[in-house]
Amino acid sequence: MRKFSPEGFRHQFPALRESKCYLDSAATSLCPQTVIDATHQFYQTGGSVHRSHYLQAKQLTERYEACRQQVAELINAPQAEQIIWTRGSTESINLVAQSWLQPLLHPGDEIIVSELEHHANLLPWLMLAEKTGAKVVRWPITAHGELAVDDLAPLLTPRTRLLAVTQMSNVTGYRPPLAAIIHQAHKAGVAVVIDGAQGIVHQPTDVQQLDADFYLFSAHKLYGPTGIGILYARSDRLAQMRPVQGGGKMITHVDFNGYRLQQAPWCFEPGTPNTAGVIGLSSALDFHRAIDWQAAEAWTCQLAEHAVKQLAQLPGIKLFHAPGSPIISFVFEQLHSHDLFSLINEYNVALRVGQHCAQPLMQALGVSGTLRASFAAYNAYDDVEQLVRAVTSAYQLLT
Ligand code: PLP
Repeated sequence: MRKFSPEGFRHQFPALRESKCYLDSAATSLCPQTVIDATHQFYQTGGSVHRSHYLQAKQLTERYEACRQQVAELINAPQAEQIIWTRGSTESINLVAQSWLQPLLHPGDEIIVSELEHHANLLPWLMLAEKTGAKVVRWPITAHGELAVDDLAPLLTPRTRLLAVTQMSNVTGYRPPLAAIIHQAHKAGVAVVIDGAQGIVHQPTDVQQLDADFYLFSAHKLYGPTGIGILYARSDRLAQMRPVQGGGKMITHVDFNGYRLQQAPWCFEPGTPNTAGVIGLSSALDFHRAIDWQAAEAWTCQLAEHAVKQLAQLPGIKLFHAPGSPIISFVFEQLHSHDLFSLINEYNVALRVGQHCAQPLMQALGVSGTLRASFAAYNAYDDVEQLVRAVTSAYQLLT
């Protein structure tokens, strides 16, 4: 049976044993002991996947491939073969850009990108546009920091090839209405790539129900290791993708006259893969499966709301936070966020300061940067108290 108790959950994260106040999970979440053990054990035993045929290598390959099925179950992908391993969300988006869109793109074609996006979901499109003569079209946020489907309609033209949008903003925690957005884009014959880097850990995701063309995320925001990511592609889109990197184990035959590709997903994964990353992700997904995520998410958001209520009482604070989300960005009138940050740092509170790889969003919000506290299910009320105490003291020292 799936369960969640805040104390029991937190206890599984060795990084938190010294009562650390970690509020930077939107950047990278911590790993539970089971994920650390699985990775450690892989390196202790060693072995190579898809190459060697001794028993241990065969077992490792089976375990490595079984993780695709775990990911497919997590997001309800029809087939494990629609899951491509990458180094992370960034590489997944670049793969869609180069492997799927580039061969289909003509000068003057358009790619719509929302103003909420992380640079990982903007730069690959800008770079592709530069290379091909296509155009990146901005989908602006509303005055409330949201995406309005009504604003999307006039941007969709016969030249639009793709819409790139996030499942959750890494700055405000806002979740765009994906079902309505995808419906609108598909009505215009436009494919949609969904950046699930932040969303995956905070809500159940069903790529079939959404009818997502592409969906992607990184393991390190889902209590897993760094350096391993996922790209899911709908089967018709997958069939249109062409590998952009060549190397070992991606072909069935090669000679000096040409080559025959392996089937997907293996043709997109040349070279020795990040086996430790996949084994660690597999363990993170086992961990995930045993948790009551609805309860865990309710706890996480309860902490964030408690923090918002207390921070809102500080004079001159401006909060950027979607209600019911785990992410809080904030600034103070007349104070520089980096000055506040250096004082908050002395209280051992792990926050993030800056533009959060979202410069266009910062411009749209009218700020040069923010402080950001992001909560996960291993946080506790003590973390909220520590955060509020640190921010209050820093504010008082600077005013
Ligand atoms: N998209 C969003 C919304 C993110 O928050 C991040 C990372 O913070 C990324 C993409 C990029 O993820 P990665 O650095 O794991 O490739």
